[in-house]
Amino acid sequence: MRNRSSRAGAPSRADQVLKEVEAARDEIVAFAADLIRIPTVNPPGDAYRECAALIGRRLGEAGLDVQYVEADGLPEHTAAHPRVNVVGRGAGTGAGKRIHLNGHFDVVPPGDGWSVDPFAGEVKDGRIYGRGASDMKSGIAAAVFAVEATRRAGIDLGGAVDISGTVDEESGGFAGVAHLCRTGIISARNTDYAIIPEPFGPDRVCVGHRGVYWFDIVAHGRTAHGSMPHLGRNAIEDMGAVLEAFRTDLQPRLAARRTALPVVPEAAQRPSLNINAVEGGQSGEAVQSPCVADRCTATFDRRFIPEESFDEAREEIAALVARVAGEDPGRRLTVEDRMVVHPVQTPPGSPLVEALARATRAVRGRDPTLVASPGTYDQKHFARLAGVQHCVAYGPGALEEAHQPDESCSVDDLVACTKVLALGVLELVGPAISRTT
Ligand SMILES: [Zn+2]
Repeated sequence: MRNRSSRAGAPSRADQVLKEVEAARDEIVAFAADLIRIPTVNPPGDAYRECAALIGRRLGEAGLDVQYVEADGLPEHTAAHPRVNVVGRGAGTGAGKRIHLNGHFDVVPPGDGWSVDPFAGEVKDGRIYGRGASDMKSGIAAAVFAVEATRRAGIDLGGAVDISGTVDEESGGFAGVAHLCRTGIISARNTDYAIIPEPFGPDRVCVGHRGVYWFDIVAHGRTAHGSMPHLGRNAIEDMGAVLEAFRTDLQPRLAARRTALPVVPEAAQRPSLNINAVEGGQSGEAVQSPCVADRCTATFDRRFIPEESFDEAREEIAALVARVAGEDPGRRLTVEDRMVVHPVQTPPGSPLVEALARATRAVRGRDPTLVASPGTYDQKHFARLAGVQHCVAYGPGALEEAHQPDESCSVDDLVACTKVLALGVLELVGPAISRTT
C-alpha cells in the first residue's frame, strides 16, 4: 500500500485495519459457521427470514442502518417461503464514493455424499465445513467484518459502505438482488462500486460472465398404433435428427470460437451447448401402450461469449432447426425461448479492480489474476438493472467446492479475503478528512 505509515512510528490506517481483522479471526469464523447452521436451502427457499435477521443484527452492531426488504408482488414470495432480503446502509460522513458489498445467503440443497453434517458449521483442520461454506456464507462474513474492522480501527470513512444479504441467487436472483435493483434500493445514483464475495479465492478477481440462452425445441409428430409406426410420425425420431445436427454441425462451430474474456476454467472460454432434458412419448411410470410418440421436447442451455451477439446465437439455432426440418417433408419443429442473460464485463481499467489489485498485493504479496465466470451470478442485475458497471466478484472459498458434498472454506483464505476487502474499501471509500492528520 501507499502511505504505509502516516507518520514516522505511527501505524497507518491500513495497518490498523489489518490488525483489527486479524484480531477478529475467531469471530469471523464463528459468524460464517452460524450462517451455515441456518439451512437456507433453495429450492424451496427455507429459513430466509431467520438468516436475514442474523445478518441484520450483525450489521446493526457494525453501525449500519438496517432495513428488511421483502419481495412483495413476486410469485415466489409466499407465506410458507417468504423472500426476505436485508440491507445495511452505512452512514458515511461526507460526499465520498459509496460501495455496496452483496452476498446471497441461499444455498443449493446438500445432496448426498457428505461425511459431515452439512448444516453443523463444523470447523476442523483450518477449514469451515457445510453447505454454503464457499458459496457463499463465508463471503458474507468477510464483507461484514471488512467493514467492522474499519469501524473498530476508529476510521471515519469519507463515503459509505452498504452491505446486503439477498435471496434466490441460485434460482436467478429475481426476488433478491434484482428486486433491490428494480425498487431503486440499489441504483447507480446510490452505488459507485459493488463487490460480490463469491468464491473465487483470495488471489482472483472476477470481472464478468458469459451469456445464457435457454430454449426448448419441440418436435410435433402424429400418433398411431405402435405396431404400424408408418401410419404416424414419431416426434422422438425427429428430435434425434436435431440432436445429430447439433453434434455434427453446431458443436464444431462453437468449439472454433473463443472469447478474450479470461473465463476459468479455460475450456469454458469457448461457447457451449448442453442438453438439459429430453421428454417424449409416454412417461416412464405409465402403463405400456403401443403408441407412436406425437411430441418430443428438449431443453437446451447455450452459453454465449461477449464476441457473439445474442441475436446471432439465437438466429444460428433457428436456422439450423429450420434446415433440419426442411430435410424431411412432414417434419415439424418449433423453437421456444425460455430465458436470456446477457454477458457482463467490468469496464477495463475500473478503479474498483485497481483498488482490489493493490489490496491483494498488500495482503498476499502478489497481483490477483483477473478471471471471468463460466456461469452467471448477480453481477448481471447490478450492471443491467441498476446500471452499476463497476462491479466484480471477489471472495473466499473455491468455485470447485460450490454445490459439492463436503463443501468447505479455508479459514486462512476467509481472513485473507476479509483483509483485502477491508483495504479495498478503505481506498475506494476513503477516510474522511481526519481530525488527527
Ligand atoms: Zn454463489
